[in-house]
Amino acid sequence: MKYALVLVNIKGLGVKTFSYLIPDEMRSIIQIGQAVLVPFGRQGLINAFIVGFSDYLPGDFKAKKINRILDETPLFSLKYLKLLEWVANYYCTDFVTVLNAALPMKLIEKNAKVEFSVIYMKDEGEGLTKRQREILQALKERGKCSLIEFEEQVKTTRTTMKKLADAGFVKVSEEYIYRNPLAIFKDIKTEPLYELSGEQITAYEGIRSKLKSPNPILLHGVTASGKTEVYFKLIKDVIDSGRNVLFLAPEIALASQLTKRLARKFGIKDVAIWHSSISDGEKYDVWQRLYKNDSKILAGARSAVFAPLQNIGLIIIDEEHESAYKQTNPAPRYDARVVARRLAQFHQAPLLLGSATPDISTYYYAVNNNNLFEMKNRFNNSPLASPQVINMQEYGKAAYRGIISKPLQSEITETLARKQQVILLMNRRGYSTYTQCRSCGTVIECPDCSIPMIWHSSIKKLKCHYCNREMSFPDFCPACGSDALSTSGVGTQKIEAYIKELYPNVRTERIDSDILTRKNAHIELLNKFQKGEIDILVGTQMIAKGLDNPNVTLVGVLSADSGFSIPDFRASERGFQLLTQVAGRAGRGEFKGKVLFQTYNPDYYAFQSAKSQNYEKFFETEIKARQEFDYPPFSQIIRLILSSQNNFRAEKSAMEIALRLNTMTDKFGFSEYLETLGPTPCVIEKLHGFYRFQILIKNKLSQKGHDFVSKFLNKITLPKDIKLAIDVDPLDIL
Ligand SMILES: [Zn+2]
Ligand SMILES: [Zn+2]
Repeated sequence: MKYALVLVNIKGLGVKTFSYLIPDEMRSIIQIGQAVLVPFGRQGLINAFIVGFSDYLPGDFKAKKINRILDETPLFSLKYLKLLEWVANYYCTDFVTVLNAALPMKLIEKNAKVEFSVIYMKDEGEGLTKRQREILQALKERGKCSLIEFEEQVKTTRTTMKKLADAGFVKVSEEYIYRNPLAIFKDIKTEPLYELSGEQITAYEGIRSKLKSPNPILLHGVTASGKTEVYFKLIKDVIDSGRNVLFLAPEIALASQLTKRLARKFGIKDVAIWHSSISDGEKYDVWQRLYKNDSKILAGARSAVFAPLQNIGLIIIDEEHESAYKQTNPAPRYDARVVARRLAQFHQAPLLLGSATPDISTYYYAVNNNNLFEMKNRFNNSPLASPQVINMQEYGKAAYRGIISKPLQSEITETLARKQQVILLMNRRGYSTYTQCRSCGTVIECPDCSIPMIWHSSIKKLKCHYCNREMSFPDFCPACGSDALSTSGVGTQKIEAYIKELYPNVRTERIDSDILTRKNAHIELLNKFQKGEIDILVGTQMIAKGLDNPNVTLVGVLSADSGFSIPDFRASERGFQLLTQVAGRAGRGEFKGKVLFQTYNPDYYAFQSAKSQNYEKFFETEIKARQEFDYPPFSQIIRLILSSQNNFRAEKSAMEIALRLNTMTDKFGFSEYLETLGPTPCVIEKLHGFYRFQILIKNKLSQKGHDFVSKFLNKITLPKDIKLAIDVDPLDIL
């Protein structure tokens, strides 16, 4: 092949591909996935990746030569590019967008262009080769320079420099010598796997019999049923057979906890971690280790599905119902569960999903494919707490400040008296939830986002939860000029304040995304709670996840209906999952747990199922509703959002697209199977200053319908002031 197709990331142009001539001397070593330097106009030499080869140029121009190969070890394979190509097609986005999300593009640039310092230390010592002495000599005169310049001038490689640094001849900055994100666990002691018992054995053996299944396998186990031990036993089998395991957790904090447990069981050497928060230097290191097949187990959050783990023999996705597996913004709006399924097929490996409250579609498919395994009892046989319902229509008036009912108060008092711990869930952050004028009823909204501004007492500001705009409390109503403005509704900060009023001598802390501005604040608080240094923890759904504290015996949900009222077909599912998960935090140890739900809506079906912690019952009702209205799993939803700073133009282009789509589906006789809903203004009509309209497409033709829609979308061209976002299988339709 004469030419190489390279991928570049140019300021202003974005990520693009171009053809370059392969110099003769590179022909025998050049490979897909290598990082190279290429000349690019006035910018001089820039970084690029080899993504393909050809004998011809796509146009009539003279190709420039590749300057040099930065690293002979490729960073990805052709097979890997094929997976990304599939992702691009599935999510109706371009290949380069996916590549950009998957590959640590930035780190390659960083490693090649970063300003770094080399401190020359000495050039005499044991075992130096002549070449190394020359390098050290050359270094004597140099201080700070970019890596490219440095490598050009000194004619050395990173491997050599690392050797010299390790031997104490030079000191180089951290970006240069890669770090291992697991170094913090280096003193960890390995321990044997637990013996499985009872239902765990049945589940383990059942799953083993299905490892050849091309369809996902579901492990549905109640909270604290010991799913992790089953996973670990399966992992052991797979790595013993010489293959590798990818293990995903929904969040970075959970992925870190998981990595620690894996390192303890399988040894730190064989475990790697990948998520968006590890540093670029660490990413580079991990990426290379994975690509060279030096790690057996990779744990990580969503983006780890794109890490180059080789020879995969099993993929596990824990807490598979979590919406964090889907990237909603920016594109590619991929779902790690969908990509993992494809990845599993590529490697002919099984995909194992686990949850106490599975996604409705996952459960539906698992039942139909006969791939469902259940664990209905807790690992230590402690009973699941059955939640008690406090009907606030009855108890609301006598409740403390209208929100903390008498029964909840007495349970809190008793729990504290027993020196046990309490979790209180309030799924709205902030102090109040809206600010309203009592004269004319106007609610103060964010000028850019059409949602109520929320009072934060800690910073004494109104805050928009979508764009983070802050403003001070207005003196007068912007609509009528009255000064009768007051805040209403309850958020976590208000609950925290009320609890501190009621229990002044008790250690109360709050956990929600407002505290996340401090790095690791979340983990620190959870650790403190785990150690018993906090008595009452107030928080949003963040506290429903992963917390395993045997001393928690009371869980109170202050406003249990709040999750069910969002205008989304998944609202019941989300509400049910949240209540079941948070209830599962109570009584995990030797003490029996209690759960209290405060509600104004005690008869709602999803609520009733959550109360009895009966997933099957909830599933039966919910799946009927989905079928009746053709929602997933009975259709695929493709959501289009048209937005513009001009309300009228956004609406007009949304209407045009809907009309064209309807005309096309009519023409092909598909209209019954490819239903177009809308355009309608989005529930959040305005966001970041953009007016938003949505079209929902319900595709009941599977692949054929998907192809039809994606072809249609490919042909759309829009004026510059209109933005189109395509979300395939959206998880929220607000
Ligand atoms: Zn007013
Ligand atoms: Zn806003």
